[in-house]
Amino acid sequence: MIRINSIQNTQNQTLSLEIPSHLDQIIDGTGLVIMPGLIDPHVHFRIPGQPHKEDWITASRAALSAGYTTVIDMPNNIPACVSLERLNQKTALINQQLAQANSPLKYYLYLGADRKNFDQISLIKNYFKNSNQTNHIIGIKVFMGASTGDLLMEDESSLHAIFALAKFHGFLIAVHAEDNSVIHACSQNYLHTQNFSDHSRIRSREAAIKSVKLALSLSKQYGVRLYILHVSTKEELIFIEQAKNDGVDVFAEVCPHHLFLNISVYESLKGLAKMNPPLRNPEDQEALLAGIKSGLIDTLGSDHAPHTLEEKSQDYPHCPAGVPGIETSLPLLLNAVNQNQLSLKDVENITVHGPRRLFNLPKNNDWVLIDMAKTKPVLNQFLQTKCAWSSFAGTILTGYPVLTICEGYVFPSSD
Ligand SMILES: [Zn+2]
Repeated sequence: MIRINSIQNTQNQTLSLEIPSHLDQIIDGTGLVIMPGLIDPHVHFRIPGQPHKEDWITASRAALSAGYTTVIDMPNNIPACVSLERLNQKTALINQQLAQANSPLKYYLYLGADRKNFDQISLIKNYFKNSNQTNHIIGIKVFMGASTGDLLMEDESSLHAIFALAKFHGFLIAVHAEDNSVIHACSQNYLHTQNFSDHSRIRSREAAIKSVKLALSLSKQYGVRLYILHVSTKEELIFIEQAKNDGVDVFAEVCPHHLFLNISVYESLKGLAKMNPPLRNPEDQEALLAGIKSGLIDTLGSDHAPHTLEEKSQDYPHCPAGVPGIETSLPLLLNAVNQNQLSLKDVENITVHGPRRLFNLPKNNDWVLIDMAKTKPVLNQFLQTKCAWSSFAGTILTGYPVLTICEGYVFPSSD
């Protein structure tokens, strides 16, 4: 049994807690804050296919040192997770790596949608109905715009088909909503650019807005729960708010990089600021923060998408999109609490309660202990992620997790 004495929850109540464990330990929680173990609904742990960027040994250490005890992994692997066979292969690899790391990290997976795998969706549903294997599938990921990997479904007839199928089988759909035709049109003006800041012009805000509108209308038409990943513009929020008021079953995600970085950092960060959707303007950051406070934004997903520094040091066209984030998400949010931009309750809502509601996840006995006064810079050498860099390196933050308890095991934070 782990006993935590005199710790505060996010509503300023002091409490003591007993957590079932093989350990016999008493933790003095004086001066610390406790939150349920965090859920990251959007990670790319790169297995199978790209173990040089990340694997579940390094990534699970990163997650558990940073307050996260549950993650949901994306299907754009090599090969993409789009069939029962590949799902079983991916699950076996993950289980093997978690066992090797002695890691109790909980995980779920998205199934990727492409035009050729519609039959696999029914197959997977039926397979797990008649099997005693754990079904890790939590929803279907649809790439409405091209990003990392080869999953793309932009034509409207395929989109209608996948929403109809999701409705029939009771799956939620998570969308990467950026319209490919808008991106293609914008890119014509920047064909030979070497300027990283053009990334935000090529993948314009109109691309995101148009695609989100289409996804919302499909969700409404088919009655499918819709999860809009990485909302980055204030306009998307307006349409999401209207849809919610209209009774559409939609959830909105924000990423830490869209909250805490904007287009002004391209000059210094270059490739380390390239991600999809791209960085936006300070007004968008303000709208996203307001969206968290009002409850319009339901979740924070790190979109942890590691690439090596070498890959990210290439010129604009060759630099892959995506940044790591699972280790800096919570400190960035806690720092925003210390700056009175958010409350601790807001942080708990988007990292625990929102994801739980979205995916109907059961409560558990995982916890993270937080020191709101701890101040230090983000330092690459303390990161557990295999890529070992952060877009926030050097940024001094106040508020860090100090230890995470997952399934009765204790994981101290990184330094
Ligand atoms: Zn992603």
